[in-house]
Amino acid sequence: MLRLCVAGSGGVGKSSLTIRYLRDEFTEYYDPTLEETYQKEIEYAGRLYDIEIVDTAGQEEFSSFRDSSLATGDAFLILFAINSQASWLEMKELRSKIIEDKEQPSIPMVIVGNKRDLEDEREVESDEILEYCNSFSIPYIETSAKTGLNVQEAFQLIYGQIHRLQAHM
Ligand code: GDP
Ligand code: MG
Repeated sequence: MLRLCVAGSGGVGKSSLTIRYLRDEFTEYYDPTLEETYQKEIEYAGRLYDIEIVDTAGQEEFSSFRDSSLATGDAFLILFAINSQASWLEMKELRSKIIEDKEQPSIPMVIVGNKRDLEDEREVESDEILEYCNSFSIPYIETSAKTGLNVQEAFQLIYGQIHRLQAHM
């Protein structure tokens, strides 16, 4: 069983993205303190994977990264909201913490800029995002849990990353 953590600061759309992916629904409100785990068997490039999708919550309250549910993650979708500069900065901090903690060079990881439907309110410029993601060779995708834009694609990207690493094991 592989633990795929959906991570990012509060309000970026972790629960919304997960539910859009699993049930193709959008609801305006999910309890921000609730962490939910979902099991899913997926097929990627002819291989089956048992995935546990962890919709994380309340990381801000954890005293240390090691106590958080992220510490046991095998793969990460790290979200920020394109209309929140604060969430972008927190996403970068989160990425460093994950890398430091894992002490292994390659962890399946995809950076997701959610709330793409709010392009008019964009606070994080595309150039800056691409420069950052390219510098760490992390795939980047912009999604909207609200409209469904690129939601399946974001999960396919992380499955691709997982598959690539597993193929070398
Ligand atoms: P979480 O704390 O990261 O789990 O965030 P939620 O999934 O609870 O979403 C926080 C708020 O943002 C809610 O009001 C959602 O309806 C809203 N939201 C989530 N994703 C999107 C999106 O793609 N577009 C827009 N416009 N709102 C979104
Ligand atoms: Mg949530």
